[in-house]
Amino acid sequence: VSSLEDLILKPLNPRQQEAVTHGTDPLLIVAGAGTGKTATIVHRVAWLVAHNVPPHTIMLLTFTRRAAEEMVRRVETILSRLSGTQLPGNLATRIWGGTFHAIGLRFLRMFGEELGLPPGFTVLDRSDAEDFINVIRTDLKLATTDRRFPKKGTCADIYSRMVNTCLPLRQVLAEFFPWCKEWHDELDRLFREYTARKKESATLDYDDLLLAWLELLNKESVGSEIRKRFRAILVDEYQDTNIIQANILYRLAPTGDGVTVVGDDAQAIYSFRGASIKNILEFPKQYPNARIVTLEQNYRSTMPILTAANAIIRPAKEKFTKNLWSEKKTGEKPWLVAALDEYEQAQFVIRRILEHHNQGTLLRHQAVLFRASHHSLPLEAELTRRGIPYHKYGGLKFLEAAHIKDALAFLRLAENPRDLVAGMRVLCLLPGIGPAKARKLLAACSVNGGHFDPWQEITPSPTAADIWPQFVQLMLHLAEGKATLPAQLHQIRVFYEPLLPVLYDNPIPRAKDLEQLEQIASRFKDRQTFLAQIALDPPNSTQDFAANPDLNDDYLVLSTIHSAKGLEWDVVFIINATDGNIPSDMATGSPESIEEERRLFYVAVTRAKRYLYVCYPQSYYTTSSLSWQNYGIALKSRFLTPEATQCFTSITAQSMEADDADLPTLARRNTAL
Ligand code: ATP
Ligand code: MG
Repeated sequence: VSSLEDLILKPLNPRQQEAVTHGTDPLLIVAGAGTGKTATIVHRVAWLVAHNVPPHTIMLLTFTRRAAEEMVRRVETILSRLSGTQLPGNLATRIWGGTFHAIGLRFLRMFGEELGLPPGFTVLDRSDAEDFINVIRTDLKLATTDRRFPKKGTCADIYSRMVNTCLPLRQVLAEFFPWCKEWHDELDRLFREYTARKKESATLDYDDLLLAWLELLNKESVGSEIRKRFRAILVDEYQDTNIIQANILYRLAPTGDGVTVVGDDAQAIYSFRGASIKNILEFPKQYPNARIVTLEQNYRSTMPILTAANAIIRPAKEKFTKNLWSEKKTGEKPWLVAALDEYEQAQFVIRRILEHHNQGTLLRHQAVLFRASHHSLPLEAELTRRGIPYHKYGGLKFLEAAHIKDALAFLRLAENPRDLVAGMRVLCLLPGIGPAKARKLLAACSVNGGHFDPWQEITPSPTAADIWPQFVQLMLHLAEGKATLPAQLHQIRVFYEPLLPVLYDNPIPRAKDLEQLEQIASRFKDRQTFLAQIALDPPNSTQDFAANPDLNDDYLVLSTIHSAKGLEWDVVFIINATDGNIPSDMATGSPESIEEERRLFYVAVTRAKRYLYVCYPQSYYTTSSLSWQNYGIALKSRFLTPEATQCFTSITAQSMEADDADLPTLARRNTAL
């Protein structure tokens, strides 16, 4: 079938073709940034579907929901060009694409009863988990006896680390949280209680999704049923999976039949969450018949950019053998830009962006990357002032705002009346109800699997007397679940909006947000899917859920480096490349974390196709008040060694300013924006 080969194989090099057409033995593609790993997976899926592997037997595990959607879209594009072939319609809904967590959740919805999970179980996102832990921390009076007891966030970190590394608490404390060692016994009690209470309230946190999925796979009947369903399992970014995920993969495919994993050990950036490069290294041991394909040619960046990237990763302790090369020999050396302060840095970046834009590079083909979300704030202020549109990834917290969480808690409680965190949150919004009373009320309705009828007979407090019957009606209504999802959110808003002025400042914009939430929800088919998606993969920006994302919309991308993984842009700016930011001050305690920061920096520079700017302010203000006490001197990142620095053209932000003083503004030049 020549057209098939033309379409699927011709765009690829011989190594990639080999990987795409490889049979069913386990396959490991380990290769550097931009060498076409993701492209190879996309083409392999297309190849499989074109060779009559039914889409619903293909599982595509990626790091984000967006990545999975994008890959399936590319598969569809390739296959749609295949003339004369009868293709299965709507691949997107048939291929099992998504994160480990999302796919685990799908199986738990199907088979959860086998583990004793009630059908309406709900998922706790990270901040819910912290709140839950906090409730128990208070119940056990851990923080009252010693105020130095780890904060809820740290407790959640320790717990998660313990689960994800499968190590005993004592060892986790010794290795990763030595300053918390003295609380071993208390933490142990706390975590036992947390585990038990999650069970009681029919809630699962992120880590439970993986654990429970693994547990399902270990059950003889369900396990074999799940295994039977899949003929191909493909995993992108395998370097950032943890031990549980590797075990899940192994239990999904004990012989390795149909398994393809791809990754780059030099880009492992999630060990702080328990991910382990060992998974890649041990793949050939796990599956002795594994085929290993390596890719060396980089198709993304110009040679000068790769030379800089190679120089940055070279001093790494871990020896990565890959030395990236590209046929794009020419191109500008990347720039190393010293700015006086963050303000000047922002000015420089914006000037450059406009210049590239005026030379024909769309804003969405340019990105500004940073180590921590708050680093972009001065830049955002300036972009807003100048009316330059941007989307920020890995930072926008629309769904984390208190009032949005409140509204969602009503829904969650309706879905699962035993959900303790949601229940406490909702009840404590009502006048005269505090945590203790809320607890009692929840206990009353959590018997018999949970429903709200018992609440009809009670008046919990005189101050709540007026509002209580209304509230109970609302909950009964929601629990019925007959109204559409947007209608349910509307009912919640009608009840909750009048409470806003009592609860929070700025009630008016908050009310607007609630309206927006209704719109977002209108895209989902049911409440359960909506809640799951919001907990698992919160949208990075509200545009993420826009009904018709307008592809003609042009906007600059701002992203944390972590969220930029796997992506590429023509022009990339890395800002705040100072020591203390990258490596982050929080990482300088241990050599391993410094190594991870180095890989992170490497990930950042390898996102650039044609132009790369690494910028660092030489001074900073620690707060927005510019008093001299808060002023400090910053040095460029230690990863910019003399050898690495040589690969850049060093300039100061100021020197550029004189050159393009007359640069037209975006708004004047391009009225379309
Ligand atoms: P990362 O490690 O950053 O995830 P990757 O190895 O997954 O990178 P891809 O994103 O698949 O790399 O590919 C990088 C770029 O190279 C993409 O723009 C892709 O379209 C292009 N590309 C991949 N393979 C080829 C090829 N054989 N010929 C030309 N371009 C290619
Ligand atoms: Mg990739």
